[in-house]
Amino acid sequence: MAFKLSIHPWVHSARYNGETWTGKYIEQRHLTPAEEAALDDEAQLALANERNTFPHFPLVNYTTQYGLGCFEGLKAYPQPDGSLKLFRPDRNCSRMASSMKGLRMPPIDEQLLLKSILETVKRNANLGFTPKYNTAWENDFWQSAAAVYIRPFTYSEPGIGVNTSKNPWVITVSTNVSAYFVPGKNEAVTSNRVRATPNGTGWIKTAANYVISTLAKSEAVDEGYMEAIFLDAATGKNIEEGTSCNFFALFPENKLITPALHDTILPGITRSSIITMARDKGLEVTETDLPISDVLENAEECFVTGTAAGITPLGSLTHKGNKREFSSLKENSLSMNLLKELKGIQYGAVEDRYSWMTAV
Ligand SMILES: *Cc1c(COP(=O)(O)O)cnc(C)c1O
Repeated sequence: MAFKLSIHPWVHSARYNGETWTGKYIEQRHLTPAEEAALDDEAQLALANERNTFPHFPLVNYTTQYGLGCFEGLKAYPQPDGSLKLFRPDRNCSRMASSMKGLRMPPIDEQLLLKSILETVKRNANLGFTPKYNTAWENDFWQSAAAVYIRPFTYSEPGIGVNTSKNPWVITVSTNVSAYFVPGKNEAVTSNRVRATPNGTGWIKTAANYVISTLAKSEAVDEGYMEAIFLDAATGKNIEEGTSCNFFALFPENKLITPALHDTILPGITRSSIITMARDKGLEVTETDLPISDVLENAEECFVTGTAAGITPLGSLTHKGNKREFSSLKENSLSMNLLKELKGIQYGAVEDRYSWMTAV
């Protein structure tokens, strides 16, 4: 059966008219979740495709033709009490505004975006489309737990000349997701492609960056790896990040290193949260250059972080045929401890001591 992307019925669309942003909620056609589950494959696919069709948006524009668009990805986590909570959604809203400025678009009204995200999730939950907490998720520390994935993205006005967008839309859709990386040996390989160049768009969550990421990831997967890791454009010597996630390495004496933020690194919200948590655990966290040679010779553990990846411990990293194994997947590794704590906060099992969770 063809891939069925099942977008939730309620979506939100905001538009800039040159002065202000105005938003509206749109209810796409749906039945009840139980009725939809009872449809045959063909009817399910037809309905899913209908919900993923927005007939009034122009097809030819700067986003579809030139990759001029940015997006966010955040999750609402089912809680044991039946509610849903979002992880640091204010951060995603301000990064969306900063990405839009980076693409020379008028930035979204952050308060409007935040409100529409919460309300969209709430309306879809009220229709019964969002997942409920399942205690079985605790068995693998929520690594295969479900969540609501929310994807706000920009879409430009019609246009075919090479130009920036002056009157973009920000459309917010959501869908249910489970694990992004299927837990296994979690092996990564460096890519000889370049994701981001100095003075480029690496720091912006733009669609355009994902062309190289997609190619590198698909090549890594073809070679039997889970993820591709990019090195810097200027020297090819320093680790930058994964295809959609930031990178951390643990060295002897509890020294944790992650590449410093600059214009070729995406400022991950999970990355910044992990830095806070690791410092509270007494680790010495440094944001600086991270030479691949140092990681291959000395690192004890490595992991990648992101909304989709959560924390994903790496079992090994291979560079030019040279493979280094790590203890990241062992039961009491730092990677696993951080994973349990972060997922615990997100799924309501660990006290939210940083006030990172927002109720829907
Ligand atoms: C979104 C993204 C990340 C992770 O950011 P989070 O805010 O933690 O989800 C890392 N790298 C890239 C390239 C990304 O697009």
